Amino acid sequence: MPPVAVGQIVDVEVTGLTHEGAGVGRYQGYTLFIAQALVGERVRVRVEHVKKNYGFARLLQILEPSVQRVAPPCPVFDRCGGCSLQHLEYEAQLRHKRQIVADNLQRIGGFTVAAEGDGASGRAAAGDAVIVHPTIGMAEPWRYRNKAQVPIGEQDGGLVGGFYAERSHTIIDIDQCLIQHEASDAVVRVVKRTAARLGITPYDEEQHTGLLRHVVTKVGAKTGEIMVVLITTEEFIPQRELLIEAIRREVPGVTSIVQNINPERTNVIFGRKTIPLWGRDVIYDYIGSVKFAISARSFYQVNPVQTEILYEKTLQYAGLTGNETVIDAYCGIGTISLFLAQQAAHVYGVEIVPEAIADARRNAEQNGIGNVTFAVGAAEEVIPAWKEQGITPDVIVVDPPRKGCDEALLTAILQMRPKRVVYVSCNPATLARDLKLLATGYVVKEVQPVDMFPHTGHVEVTVRLERKDTVN
Ligand code: SAH
Repeated sequence: MPPVAVGQIVDVEVTGLTHEGAGVGRYQGYTLFIAQALVGERVRVRVEHVKKNYGFARLLQILEPSVQRVAPPCPVFDRCGGCSLQHLEYEAQLRHKRQIVADNLQRIGGFTVAAEGDGASGRAAAGDAVIVHPTIGMAEPWRYRNKAQVPIGEQDGGLVGGFYAERSHTIIDIDQCLIQHEASDAVVRVVKRTAARLGITPYDEEQHTGLLRHVVTKVGAKTGEIMVVLITTEEFIPQRELLIEAIRREVPGVTSIVQNINPERTNVIFGRKTIPLWGRDVIYDYIGSVKFAISARSFYQVNPVQTEILYEKTLQYAGLTGNETVIDAYCGIGTISLFLAQQAAHVYGVEIVPEAIADARRNAEQNGIGNVTFAVGAAEEVIPAWKEQGITPDVIVVDPPRKGCDEALLTAILQMRPKRVVYVSCNPATLARDLKLLATGYVVKEVQPVDMFPHTGHVEVTVRLERKDTVN
């Protein structure tokens, strides 16, 4: 029996922090998860939800604050839930993210992790311990996102737009988001104000009425080009030209305005049809010296500054000399592939979304990069087929979605025996699971966490693995 009941008020010590950023407290041995509580704090909470082995509680009062606690600068921090770590000083966020990675490698992967600091500046780690480097953070961890997807809705007869309150579909109206590029905020402000004035109706999710569902913005960090995507339930937008004119007048960097039509009753943001309204249908951006075209629908990393650091590390881990054959699995629009191609003999990229591969091919061509081959399909099917065709990679890079790699792919990698594998991951749990399997043929040498998403609980890592018979 849990020692607490819903509604009960108790004082607890917080001893841990989950990777979602919630504090973990214990009351008479029973675990309580408390959003916004930090390690080392004593807090007063109200129990809100009780399960057999754990419960959730709301923070009422901080009795003894952590020295790492900071005042979150965002006025809607409490209600949003997007930035679950804003109340923790940035250096501590970075240490926390390294710890999350290390914990997963130990618990799920069964690895021994070297003490923090081992492996740094050439110092060797003991035995077969995995080196997890300190998280690489941002010098300026605000305003870093290059893409915003803002839901529009109706409240008290007016048009609002911002974000969904945590675990709900109630829209909280905001005029700025501190992790978004300023241009995104400016676009959203002018669209909201102008739409309301022109009688462009907001979408009502419950009734499935109204026109404007979402405003999506994309910003080319290096070029300054801005794309605006208006997602509507139908094609006709009243006084469309006036809306376009207002956006262009107020946000001079806008080079592309497109409309996407989504008539469905769904949570999915984009519909099938995209039509250009003004300007180009893509914006351009650079990662290193490679130029990418980004369309309304294509996937592109959201933190351009840290992406460059992540890819540099990945390139370094790949250890290329110019003679290697490389496979880039889960290649998206070819970002990592084209980055690696500059230092490899040939790169094969595979990705399941056909449009992304079309973008990848176009990006290769535009950059005059000829030593790449892209294929559409599931990595776990295409790569074994490549093996049958006699393609023998020296290095395989994988960058799977959150659910990690398909086991068939890991098996294929073990059979193809590339000298080196580099694993880029956005989910330490599935990473640890997959590394455990790869460890039958490979040594996990080092892991580099990169903070792609400051103030949120997410962490990205790149990992270097060497084939067992090549290391002693
Ligand atoms: N490497 C790219 C994209 C990584 S995101 C970049 O850094 O930009 C992961 C990608 O894997 C997505 O583009 C997704 O469409 C793709 N994907 C998902 N399942 C896949 C599968 N089974 N085989 C190949 N690609 C897949």
